[in-house]
Amino acid sequence: MNIVLLGPPGVGKGTVAAVLSGKYGVPHISTGNMLREAIAKGTELGRQAKEFVDAGKLVPDELVTKMVRERVAQPASKKGFILDGYPRTSAQARALQEFAAVDAVLDFTAPFKTIVERISGRRTCRKCSATFHIKYSPPKKEGICDKCGGDLYQRSDEKPGIITERLKVYEQQNKPLIDYYRNEELLSEIDASYHITEIEKIVKQCDEVLKNIKS
Ligand code: AMP
Repeated sequence: MNIVLLGPPGVGKGTVAAVLSGKYGVPHISTGNMLREAIAKGTELGRQAKEFVDAGKLVPDELVTKMVRERVAQPASKKGFILDGYPRTSAQARALQEFAAVDAVLDFTAPFKTIVERISGRRTCRKCSATFHIKYSPPKKEGICDKCGGDLYQRSDEKPGIITERLKVYEQQNKPLIDYYRNEELLSEIDASYHITEIEKIVKQCDEVLKNIKS
């Protein structure tokens, strides 16, 4: 089951992907998380990606595609994967097609105002990448991850100026990607405007699409 999730930053793809990953037994591959990990570890990839990620700009296609191709080739992805954050450009979509056959593309949508509010309140665990929201899903203890006890922080690209830049980049890149997958008859729209406490309403829409796919 090879699934691609599309949608702007902050639309809730990551949260839903984690649920779907547990439910369908396929890994959640988030390119944003992988790049942040590489940057934190100071790997060669991290060094090359840092300036782009920090500025809210896209990391060059070749770097991200290589990273995803290697991950998809690992035994853990044998039954399939849920890609979150890749592809982001038509060139990436064409590259993906060369090493994996996509079964479905779920396009998450929500109003602009909802998205900005979600991103600016988000806090991420430095250790395990779990996310919280200061208003909608706060951790039990402020600044501390419920899952692993790690420190929570606000990502530098989740501060107001950079959010606007990321949404602008998204608007520019997304249209051709949507057209590409619509043309391939793989695209389904998911209404992701529901509150986090109603996440099952979003998951249900995904299940409806995924039940028609053979695993
Ligand atoms: P995300 O957490 O998915 O919003 O990604 C955070 C940042 O990582 C983005 O703003 C980009 O700088 C970079 N990034 C993630 N995925 C990609 C991708 N597929 N192509 C290029 N850059 C990416």
